[in-house]
Amino acid sequence: MSIPELDRLNNKSCACLKEHSFDSDVIVGEGVINKLPEVLSRFSAKKVYLIADVNTYDAAGEEVCKILEDAEISVHKYIFNQKHLHPDETSVGLAIMNIDMSCDAIVAVGSGVINDISKIVANVSSKPYIIVGTAPSMDGYASATSSMTRDGFKISLDSKCAEVIIGDINIISKAPLKLFATGLGDMLAKYVSICEWRIANIVVGEYYCEEIADLVRKSLKKCVDNADGLLKGDKKAAAAVFEGLVISGVAMNFAGCSRPASGIEHYFSHLWDMRSVEFGTPAELHGIQCALGTLFALRSYEKLKSIKPDKEKALKFVENFSFEAWSEELRKFLGKGADSMIALEEKQKKYDVEKHRKRLEIIIENWDEILKIIDEELPSSEEIENLMDKFSIPKTMDEIGVGEDIYEMTFLATKDIRDKYILSRLCWDLGETIL
Ligand SMILES: [Zn+2]
Ligand SMILES: [Zn+2]
Repeated sequence: MSIPELDRLNNKSCACLKEHSFDSDVIVGEGVINKLPEVLSRFSAKKVYLIADVNTYDAAGEEVCKILEDAEISVHKYIFNQKHLHPDETSVGLAIMNIDMSCDAIVAVGSGVINDISKIVANVSSKPYIIVGTAPSMDGYASATSSMTRDGFKISLDSKCAEVIIGDINIISKAPLKLFATGLGDMLAKYVSICEWRIANIVVGEYYCEEIADLVRKSLKKCVDNADGLLKGDKKAAAAVFEGLVISGVAMNFAGCSRPASGIEHYFSHLWDMRSVEFGTPAELHGIQCALGTLFALRSYEKLKSIKPDKEKALKFVENFSFEAWSEELRKFLGKGADSMIALEEKQKKYDVEKHRKRLEIIIENWDEILKIIDEELPSSEEIENLMDKFSIPKTMDEIGVGEDIYEMTFLATKDIRDKYILSRLCWDLGETIL
């Protein structure tokens, strides 16, 4: 791998007692696209199936075809002609229907959606898969799942991770500024995710690895320190964001969970996406929504710091909570999408009174430690607002068309998405509404 920070943890036993491993190769640097023939020779590939869309073909696809043809590797390609490609049945169907099964490998040229679709094609065809990144827009490069819409539902589908991830900084640095803003937004989320991972470790005893957390923390710092450079098209800054996103993906592989890279801010985004699928309401790019979710989470953590846990108040609040009534609210808010969230409670029993009582004891006992974690991990909301302003990232739900009126429901519904202890669950445990 060309990212030394990853080699340091890969295949080594760690203080957290896990052995972290990630099998894919990551090649990042200027001009690394020229290594493609050499990479393909590892798989004895003489013929490849190339997947791109009109934008990514312009950005790098054409160049990739030329490099491969010069190396006498034949290319059979499918270029999506939609400007805005959706990760759904139609796109996957098109990519699969156009495959030449005699190819030896699949090469995708693109970022989020192209990668999500191509990972599925590579998985079902059992072909080696190489992604040539064109933009630092999301942290899915190193993940083995595809974020898709199926039967009208947003799902995370098991697919496969690319055997080789190529990030040519000469290409990446030319990506549109909006995609840098998106990638930066997905990175900012990591402030919250690491903070919540540590809190969950205390409150519900969830597994936590300081080495992985530190890996993500350092790459996030590098992105933020170099953020001004992104506005000037600086290659070092572009590399920091691309590497940060790849490292975040690998960190999730190392940890075996999404904790290092996603917390409540991702659930804000997830809920707006769910509503968009169900009701056709507007939605923005993943990283932009995550940046907004991060800003809201930071403001809420700031409010949380001023409260003092009150045991009686918390117990009374939980006593008066009706899961049935709450389920109705969720159905109204999300439509059919609420069903799986409601069903999840059957397994989780997070609203169980006894379980709550135990968590509350732990929270009260460790309140100072929780406050210390918040102080250590989180920047001020003002700092993030300034950064968002520089990249013209919207700071209100109205600006992205989601509407401020659903803020409260969004915040409250985040606790029901997965069995993950996050800010909204901590607030519920405390009987506090810090909206
Ligand atoms: Zn570890
Ligand atoms: Zn993300």
